[in-house]
Amino acid sequence: MRIARFNKGRIGLVEGEEIVDITDPAGVDVEAWPPTGMVSLLGRMGAMPERISLLGENAPRLLLSDVRLDCPIDWPNKVIAYPANYQAHIEEQKVSDVGLISEFAANSQGFFLKSNSSLSGPADPIMLPPVPHREIHHECEMAVIIGKRGRGISRDRAMEYVFGYSCLVDVVIRGREERVMRKSYDSFCPLGPWIVTPEGLDPFNLNLKLTVNGEVRQQANTRDMILDIPAMIEMASAVMTLYPGDVIASGTPAGVGPITDGDRLVSEVEGLGCLDLAVRKHDVGMHVVWTKPAA
Ligand code: MN
Repeated sequence: MRIARFNKGRIGLVEGEEIVDITDPAGVDVEAWPPTGMVSLLGRMGAMPERISLLGENAPRLLLSDVRLDCPIDWPNKVIAYPANYQAHIEEQKVSDVGLISEFAANSQGFFLKSNSSLSGPADPIMLPPVPHREIHHECEMAVIIGKRGRGISRDRAMEYVFGYSCLVDVVIRGREERVMRKSYDSFCPLGPWIVTPEGLDPFNLNLKLTVNGEVRQQANTRDMILDIPAMIEMASAVMTLYPGDVIASGTPAGVGPITDGDRLVSEVEGLGCLDLAVRKHDVGMHVVWTKPAA
């Protein structure tokens, strides 16, 4: 099952070239604030995705090409992110002087949070703040979407808490400032184009690829993660209660690099679809904190 948000908060099931509008049978109010329609649906049915698919019976169908896809999760409780989760990326950051990426891998370093408001959708451009002399980098990642509330989740039970998977780009200003600030600009966490539930997927063996203007920058397979999905869930839930709709960015492989105004970034994970994103400069976002040298 592929589940999306579209046209400002409606919920749909993507089937081929169509999207089945389940907003009404799902009991989602698109006018509600905060916009937690998907999160509340996952809270009610995330542990039983077959019930969500039943909502599509007799629901209206639209052409996918006629709708605007939104970020599939708006207002999650949190966006958890793992750094340095592929060995080859750790090696490249050791020899790089542009960022404070610890030489410690995710299995000994733990995770961080990105602001929820950095999430953006498959139709939204990445907006680059006008920070001088700084590189803004892409990180191609697979996202894990939590479907069931839990704390202290053991490795052997962890997969029961997964609702599905999506493509995610973790965008970051390289430098030594606090990581949360460098990674939390609006539009610095594109997610989508939809969430794919696990049936028929092997999330431990999916190819990832990210191109910029057609040039391959990152190419890897999720089998090369240092912390696998159960290990990430075990670690995060040791600290925090995981809630339905929580997003886990699972870390990036080697090949991170700069993006600039006018670029076209395409990030795909096998079986999950692809994010095809414009990159634009923005006139908002400069702050004096960025005026000192990056390294
Ligand atoms: Mn990352």
